[in-house]
Amino acid sequence: MADPRGFLKVRDRELPPNRPVEVRLRDWKDVHAHLEEGQPFLKEQAGRCMDCGIPFCHNGCPLGNLIPEWNDLVWRGQWADAIDRLHATNNFPEFTGRICPAPCESSCVLGINQPPVTIKNVEVSIIDEAFARGLVTPQVPTRLTGHTVAVVGSGPAGLAAAQQLTRAGHTVAVYERDDEIGGLLRYGVPDFKLEKVHIDRRLEQMRAEGTRFRPGVEVGRDVTWVQLQARYDAIVLATGATVARRLTVPGLGLDGVHVAMDYLHQANAVVAGKDVPDQITAEGKHVVIIGGGDTGSDCLGTALRQGAASVTTLAIGKRPPTERPEHQPWPTDPVLFEVSSSHEEGGERTYLASTVAFLGDEGDDAGHVRALRLATTEYLPDGRRVPMSGTERDIPAELVLVAMGFTGPETEDLTEQIGIELTDRGAVARDEDFATNVPGVFVAGDAGRGQSLVVWAIAEGRAAAAAVDAYLSGSSELPAPVSAS
Ligand code: FAD
Repeated sequence: MADPRGFLKVRDRELPPNRPVEVRLRDWKDVHAHLEEGQPFLKEQAGRCMDCGIPFCHNGCPLGNLIPEWNDLVWRGQWADAIDRLHATNNFPEFTGRICPAPCESSCVLGINQPPVTIKNVEVSIIDEAFARGLVTPQVPTRLTGHTVAVVGSGPAGLAAAQQLTRAGHTVAVYERDDEIGGLLRYGVPDFKLEKVHIDRRLEQMRAEGTRFRPGVEVGRDVTWVQLQARYDAIVLATGATVARRLTVPGLGLDGVHVAMDYLHQANAVVAGKDVPDQITAEGKHVVIIGGGDTGSDCLGTALRQGAASVTTLAIGKRPPTERPEHQPWPTDPVLFEVSSSHEEGGERTYLASTVAFLGDEGDDAGHVRALRLATTEYLPDGRRVPMSGTERDIPAELVLVAMGFTGPETEDLTEQIGIELTDRGAVARDEDFATNVPGVFVAGDAGRGQSLVVWAIAEGRAAAAAVDAYLSGSSELPAPVSAS
């Protein structure tokens, strides 16, 4: 156990400060100052862990992270053992330690009467320290099974599945239609939340372990699903939930109205030094973002860095995140998911706001968008949310970003080419072991689960890998932290 009286000696959380807003808005670097700044308080923060008889943080984390164990090891300064215990359950703590909403902290028992342990910051400190000390080395399999696996999609689910299967001795190729590997971590999440060096150095490890990468190949088009089936012994679908939820209001076809992912994809490419002709940019514009989730807040931080004249985020929710009591620990409050560093940086937020129409500069359905008509959202007794008549008003809008979430995966080619069955919500259907109706084809991450979180994608990737390994080898020793039921 970490310091047995630690939580009595240190009652408050201490975290490294975020970089000042006026400084970080001038660049795209991580808003957090982690290892660079040093954290003299880290040991005592890890020492606040009570090592509870029943550590609810384990259950709070889909990966079942062994949190009290690595808190203890950090408190003792045993970094090599700490990264071993962390890697035992999580392939990519550098991602979760940065962008997970940390359900573990909402489950921390200390949170009943004190602010919870700073678990996420301890996690990211372990992995950063491990990379800095050269403790993250390739784990090359000692024997090859001769089985081949194609993983389609290179987000956190696909990468976790690929790393587990490669280490189990299978020959794994990851197919990705984008020009670079990483899924939403590469082209969705901006650098100010996750700098791409963290993906690149993990890929270096994976390549050295034997995983092969095939970027720029769209399965279903460049190579058919049938061809893939013929070439590999098993397939893991990890194609994400990429179909954006759309609005159906007048004026949707106006120039300047975009789905958020088109905007973020281009912005991330430009930050990576790529040439994007006719980039959608917020520079000098009045920007309106529709949707107050992760995607919306990433658009906000991006628009502010591009030099928007103003940014207004519209959300139909009732409660602003600021109403969340500080360190809201338990029970998990869904509002937690809406708080992000971007909200500290600027912009206006309007709650209970329903979009009624977009107005164009050449009439209401032509030219470029110039304004957005909104109305106060009314909650009807049956739960429906509708615009309240008589409350309509117009706000300036020269760039509108629709960030209303995702309805599910793209499945046309999958159903047509190999007859994959879908759920009634449009996700890829699977049994509790992540197997689809097509023998040898498994699914992990948002493609099967629906729009979710990085930590769930990694957990599902690991569990699907165990199922594939058992399918190919008859049994598996790989861990399966979650089931798909
Ligand atoms: P994805 O990451 O979506 O990867 C799927 C990949 O499959 C994509 O790269 C796609 O190009 C590829 N693909 C699709 N079809 C094909 C095909 N036919 N052939 C080849 N390749 C294909 N979660 C958090 O926990 N914290 C956050 O802060 C957070 N921020 C987010 C911000 C944004 C803007 C978005 C959109 C999501 C965010 N999420 C966040 C959610 C998180 O990113 C996803 O839950 C997670 O990435 C899902 O992982 P995945 O591997 O299932 O799919």
